[in-house]
Amino acid sequence: MNDVNFDILNTKKLYRKIFNNILNSMPMLFEKLRPSCKNCKKINSCKINRTNPFQNFDKNCKLKFWRHNIINALENDLSKDILYKLKEIENDKDSFICNRCTICCRFATSEYDYKKLKEKAQNGDNFAKQFVSIFIPYDNIDEAVKAYPDYVKMLKENLNDINNIYFYHCKKLKENGLCSDYENRLQICRDFPNNPFVLLPKSCGYKEWKKNHHIEALLLHATIEIIEFYINKLKNV
Ligand code: SF4
Ligand code: SF4
Repeated sequence: MNDVNFDILNTKKLYRKIFNNILNSMPMLFEKLRPSCKNCKKINSCKINRTNPFQNFDKNCKLKFWRHNIINALENDLSKDILYKLKEIENDKDSFICNRCTICCRFATSEYDYKKLKEKAQNGDNFAKQFVSIFIPYDNIDEAVKAYPDYVKMLKENLNDINNIYFYHCKKLKENGLCSDYENRLQICRDFPNNPFVLLPKSCGYKEWKKNHHIEALLLHATIEIIEFYINKLKNV
């Protein structure tokens, strides 16, 4: 198994584990946010399931604010905290530097062919707009293999049909490995790698940054996924 394959499998496994741990901890959070039933006159005869916030409570029931409390905590406190931490991870990238190995300029993949990407760009997709302005397709897969052999090997091993993946390289990269327009490089170039999940070649100067923040970023992204799920569920009771 090559490094790229190992990286993907490990990340998937870890993400599932982290996701399940957070999911299992949510009922405890919900419980903390449950309004108290103290002083309710019906407390002794109450038949309401007080472990389940996903139900409609009677207008006289103290638990009628429960869903609101949870949504508020998820949408405000928790989400703001996550955004703050994600920003911190992003900022820490400035402590590392690009080694100019050029792989990210010589090798990019997309599930879309060039025509589709151009269409997306014309329809206002900002990423596609930037991408097609510098990246052009490789003439054949062998050219892409030369740029990043491990990555193509991993795709071949994991996908039923590699023909659905399109390989690109940047037309602004010069023979000497330097960017011909470095000072004016686009935001997608400046942002790379834009999160610690991006598969990075061994030669990348941001490998350590990815390593340092990988688990925390997985945790934050799993939490975002779970928050979105619960907010949606609570708003649609
Ligand atoms: S524009 Fe420059 S930095 Fe951006 S991908 Fe191309 S060669 Fe690399
Ligand atoms: S892969 Fe990493 S080190 Fe190499 S050019 Fe891109 S950002 Fe720089």
